[in-house]
Amino acid sequence: MTAEVFTARQLEALHDHPYATPVIAVTGGKGGVGKSTVAVNIAAALAARGHAVALVDADTEAPNNHILLSLPLKDHIDVQVAMPLVEPSLCTHCGDCIAACRRNALFLPPDQTPILMGECNGCKACINACPTGALLTRWMSVGATCRTESGNLTLFSGELLPGREESTIIVRALKDRLAAEADRFDIIVVDTAPGVHCTVIAALAGAGCAYAVTEPTRVGMHDLGLILDLCEMLAIPARIILNRSNLSGSQATIAPEAASKDVTVAASIPHDSILLQSYVKGLPVVGTNPDSPAARIFTDLAARIEREWLK
Ligand code: SF4
Ligand code: SF4
Repeated sequence: MTAEVFTARQLEALHDHPYATPVIAVTGGKGGVGKSTVAVNIAAALAARGHAVALVDADTEAPNNHILLSLPLKDHIDVQVAMPLVEPSLCTHCGDCIAACRRNALFLPPDQTPILMGECNGCKACINACPTGALLTRWMSVGATCRTESGNLTLFSGELLPGREESTIIVRALKDRLAAEADRFDIIVVDTAPGVHCTVIAALAGAGCAYAVTEPTRVGMHDLGLILDLCEMLAIPARIILNRSNLSGSQATIAPEAASKDVTVAASIPHDSILLQSYVKGLPVVGTNPDSPAARIFTDLAARIEREWLK
């Protein structure tokens, strides 16, 4: 993969946002590698250093930052999408709505009315294209955004309703909500979903740097390559965070993977019983055990982020 997958104009739009607050992302090609633990601890360490931090949980299908911080989800705002609803008596089966849908979300069975079968982004192109007015607007809830303040840290969290597919829409709603007050934060930390799909791209948009969390396993190394390729395509500088770095596995392969992509390893976090206990309790280790080895690694990383982004 190369950066040429996206045009210069698309990349410019991707990096554009209406505020000056620096944004860093914590991401990963694979789930279950400790990405959210890393994001929460970086955010908590920055907040403990006196900075106003926005932590954005953009893993909308399984948001868990609030659990790892033992915070309630507050101030829910419903996210709705305008979806087409067919009035059968007005439909002439012309197919214009099918042609208008760029997401191929509509299907027209022979002699029947259109059926919504894919992810609808509420663009209304089908509704506008229908010559008979057979498509009405039906507002559907697809999830919610939440906002919880705790000291220097404000958590923005997005939740997709079970069975829905519009996770990218939730991420955009989350970012719109953040943008309304982004200038009051010193830094924004975005915890993306795992993987390299559209929802991850939407979460990475605007990030000045991405920390790709992985673990020293063969699957971890494989998926690290995917997320580093995505960051390269999006022209987002990436660094690696090697979690559970003392696991026996293919740790030796990370050096050539990092070197081949000109990416540095920002932190190596050994598997640590104190870190595990804090995870079980739902509290960041930088708060529960600030002198533990893992907490010191996060604090040191936060200090480097501070020097780089918070001058
Ligand atoms: S609203 Fe847009 S995305 Fe949804 S079905 Fe119609 S054309 Fe397709
Ligand atoms: S554009 Fe309108 S009339 Fe034509 S198939 Fe779609 S709903 Fe029916």
